Amino acid sequence: MNKNTPERILIVDDSLEMRNFISNVLTTEAGYSVSVARSGHEGVEITIQESPDLIITDYSMPEMSGLEMLEELRRREQTMPAILMTAEGSEDIAVRALRAGVMDYFVKPFDPFEMKEAATRVLAASRIGATRTSVSDQRNMQALNALIAVGRSVTALLDLESILTRIVEAAVFISGAEEGTLMLLDRTTGDLYVRASKNIEEGLRSMRLRVVDSLAGKVVSSGDPLYVEGGTPQKIKTSYLVRSLIYVPLKVADRVIGVLGVHNRSGASPLGKDILASMTALADYASIAIVNAELYSEADSERARFSKILNQIQDGVLLVDGHDRVALCNPVARDLLDQAGNDFIGQRLVNLTSNRQLLDLLEDSKNRTTRPLHGDVSHSGKIFNAHVSEIPGLGRAVVMQDITELKELDRIKSELVLMVSHDLRSPLTAILSYTELMGRVGELNEQQKEFTKQARISVESITTLINDLLDLGKIEARVDREREEVDMGELAGQAVRIVKQQAELKKQIITVNTREGVPTVMGNALQLRQVFTNLLDNAIKYSGVGGAIGLHLFGEAESVIVVISDDGIGISPEDQPHIFDRFYRVKEVTQTHTGTGLGLNIVKSIVDLHSGRVWVQSTPGKGTTFTIVLPAFTASNLEQEAITNA
Ligand code: ADP
Repeated sequence: MNKNTPERILIVDDSLEMRNFISNVLTTEAGYSVSVARSGHEGVEITIQESPDLIITDYSMPEMSGLEMLEELRRREQTMPAILMTAEGSEDIAVRALRAGVMDYFVKPFDPFEMKEAATRVLAASRIGATRTSVSDQRNMQALNALIAVGRSVTALLDLESILTRIVEAAVFISGAEEGTLMLLDRTTGDLYVRASKNIEEGLRSMRLRVVDSLAGKVVSSGDPLYVEGGTPQKIKTSYLVRSLIYVPLKVADRVIGVLGVHNRSGASPLGKDILASMTALADYASIAIVNAELYSEADSERARFSKILNQIQDGVLLVDGHDRVALCNPVARDLLDQAGNDFIGQRLVNLTSNRQLLDLLEDSKNRTTRPLHGDVSHSGKIFNAHVSEIPGLGRAVVMQDITELKELDRIKSELVLMVSHDLRSPLTAILSYTELMGRVGELNEQQKEFTKQARISVESITTLINDLLDLGKIEARVDREREEVDMGELAGQAVRIVKQQAELKKQIITVNTREGVPTVMGNALQLRQVFTNLLDNAIKYSGVGGAIGLHLFGEAESVIVVISDDGIGISPEDQPHIFDRFYRVKEVTQTHTGTGLGLNIVKSIVDLHSGRVWVQSTPGKGTTFTIVLPAFTASNLEQEAITNA
């Protein structure tokens, strides 16, 4: 061939799209000269006129199929190489075509670049064939092309059934054998059964072979191929005799999972040992396909299990990706977004819902990657507690639990607490007054004095409890919503004055240390003062006579930090995680110190309401330090405030 003349390829296909698409790749990417024909008849004509170097033809065309066209051309002694394109599932045709001299075949849809490579390879092979026309070279070339085509099907993820059938057919084709089988080991029984076959009689396709006493079993046990040249008939199974056979093992990481075999029952042409390498390659393809199929089916059943769980749980689950597009959504969350079907997946959440609570929660979560963020989301009369978690690499997941009933119960409870505690105050005031009056109406003896004192102490502790409950009730009901710019130093001073007397009774000294220029806080002054008094009360209560209590106040990076410390009894590491819980009291102090177990819960609720954080550090016997961090008042959190209060 003249080096400067591009090789000529004829594309025969009744589909204009296919013709354009293949010729585009072959001309622009590989520089071939391309002619096209719309039918088998036109293909024959053009071939005779132009004598192309390669024909790429579709199989299925009206009037004359691609294979019929090639057969017609052979009759007219036009024997140029060809590549056949077939529709899905036509392995039989593909193998027939290979037998008819087709050098490669493609199952639609295929990658055009693979087609380009196949064309280059076939043209190169035919160039060699033109100079060295040995039959065995031609045969090897065909075997190689068959192997490449099979390899392509394995990676193209066709179904396992088709791939294994194609592998057996290729084995039969390459070896020139009469028949072939692909047998796999049954994991439960340990027997071999036929998984795919070519030219095997119907009745024998369901045969099962024991590993211990069959030829195929030998291959399983040894892991080595078996080659029987011919001559004395060999028994594959009772009354199933063959004259020559080749068996190769299917291996997965040194474990034999099956056997690929070809055999000749008649003695006409013994099988050549030279195809062992190709058979082994085919067996490897089969093993890869089987492992792939297993992995795929495992992944598939995992996926099915996951989606069953997701679809049936009562909570809403939503996943948004890094661009705020919905990546996953279960039915509960779908209702919440007022969507039907699944076509909204991939769309931006902001285009699907106008629910500000949900959108804001997700927006806020972008700035907090370490801990989950939660908040209420209301929709059609229901309230959901939504939790947002960052899922690295995937986006953010929102789990929404319907808490409508819980919210209602909570409201009833709060109302009840407010009402009961309010109504208890009057009778308690009366009891307290009567115990006072008792001493005024006449001299009391020592025992009577002690009894009235105990009665007073009890009334006082109930009053504290009621006050705490009322405070909590108000915080929860958000009764005290007034917010103002608060000077924390001033509040600290007020709180110290309130508890001063108590501290003096125990000869304790409170040292206040306020750094210059502490920023203000936007908040409720009464509540924030209560944070100070509750913590100072505890410091006094849980420290001994002569104890030292410190109140340290300073500003740092848009935050106001309050540290209240004492050198009292301390809190054990086991108790520390619970002390902010409602009604939690450390067991050891219940006998020695009065209290309600609500003080710290009130502190935490108030700090939370002000978007702050509170934590404790303590060493038993040494002392306790509470630290509170509140956002300093700036123009930006004023805006935030406006949104929250809206
Ligand atoms: P209480 O009414 O019992 O003081 P709080 O909610 O204020 O309830 O505190 C919960 C528990 O935490 C207390 O019972 C106490 O055991 C422990 N605690 C709180 N503050 C201190 C402190 N400064 N030192 C030691 N223990 C403390």
